[in-house]
Amino acid sequence: MTEIMIYNINDKGYYGEFGGAYIPEMLYPNVEELSQKYLAIMNEASFQKEFNQLLKDYVGRPSPLYFAKRLSEKHNTKIYLKREDLNHTGAHKVNNTIGQILMAKSLGKTRIIAETGAGQHGVATATVCALMGMQCIVYMGAVDIERQAPNVARMKMLGAEVRPALSGSKTLKDATNEAIRDWINNPTNTHYIIGSVVGPHPYPDMVARFQAVISEEIKWQLKDKEGTETPDHVIACVGGGSNAAGAFYHYLDDTNVNLIAVEAAGKGIHSGESAATSILGREGIIHGSKTLLMQTNDGQITEPYSISAGLDYPGVGPMHAHLYKTGRAEFLAVTDDEAMTAGLELSQLEGIIPAIETAHALAVFDKKAFKASDIVILNVSGRGDKDLQNYIDYFKL
Ligand SMILES: *Cc1c(COP(=O)(O)O)cnc(C)c1O
Repeated sequence: MTEIMIYNINDKGYYGEFGGAYIPEMLYPNVEELSQKYLAIMNEASFQKEFNQLLKDYVGRPSPLYFAKRLSEKHNTKIYLKREDLNHTGAHKVNNTIGQILMAKSLGKTRIIAETGAGQHGVATATVCALMGMQCIVYMGAVDIERQAPNVARMKMLGAEVRPALSGSKTLKDATNEAIRDWINNPTNTHYIIGSVVGPHPYPDMVARFQAVISEEIKWQLKDKEGTETPDHVIACVGGGSNAAGAFYHYLDDTNVNLIAVEAAGKGIHSGESAATSILGREGIIHGSKTLLMQTNDGQITEPYSISAGLDYPGVGPMHAHLYKTGRAEFLAVTDDEAMTAGLELSQLEGIIPAIETAHALAVFDKKAFKASDIVILNVSGRGDKDLQNYIDYFKL
């Protein structure tokens, strides 16, 4: 590993040309407070102790690194699955919400707000608010509230208030606008928990650091199993990019490790119904960050599409925009059909039903050949229980 961090964030809050904090004046005090304090708080021994204890006893970490023998035989390479699907609440998202609720506590905040699209981040946030006895308000587009009834019920069961966003297309970006408005109106007692490596600095870096536990564990787990900390390839799906950021983090500057980021191509990259953000995107500003995003010629953000609710985000975190632009990571786009096929394959070869987001990453094995001696790590970002109705409809089960 080199000492110079080329691919990680710099001290100005940028990954190369991407990142920064492009926010309305009225939000500046909130973001600045977080920016000034987050690293010092994260480095406190008491913070580290409580974070690690909760990851162990509440989330169930370390998540196993599992050698997938039958999947490896089928694709003639050595495949290890990092089992984030076994975390409490069924995905990697809880690593971040645990970290941020402790951050909120350290900052003296008593009220939590969040935005959610499919509801997964809302559930992970409501979960940690219940754990810490904090007030929780989740903004969600009115259309998404209709579409994601089970997650709305979960959030309510956990004691959160779900507030509908009624403007615009009544989906994720409108919920985000409502959350930002709330934060401007409640600058002193409220912390805004963002759900991926997106948003103004310091969110992308803070969330990446909380998710970095994934690659921290991979290193010692792989050392145990293979005698090396260094795999040949690490594969992860990318919506906003947080599970990929966590799986890549400790390998970012080790160019012996090939990083493979998988985006959702929906019905085809150029079909007009896609979420292949890096490939289709151009530079622009979304949610306070300069990054690659899908937009029309006159700069209107285009509505993304994917069969997987967790991947249909029109932007990508600034770390990934930089990994794309520099060629440090390989970006592949996987269609709905390819992902569904790969999800069924993992279920029947290994007895693991993956989230449809994860199934996109798994489809790489049908698109790209690896050497028999290669060690390939695939981050299983979540379990498929939440997607059962989608699988039922698709395969007519
Ligand atoms: C939310 C989600 C994703 C996408 O989010 P990232 O920030 O890109 O990781 C991927 N997989 C699962 C299971 C999710 O819930």
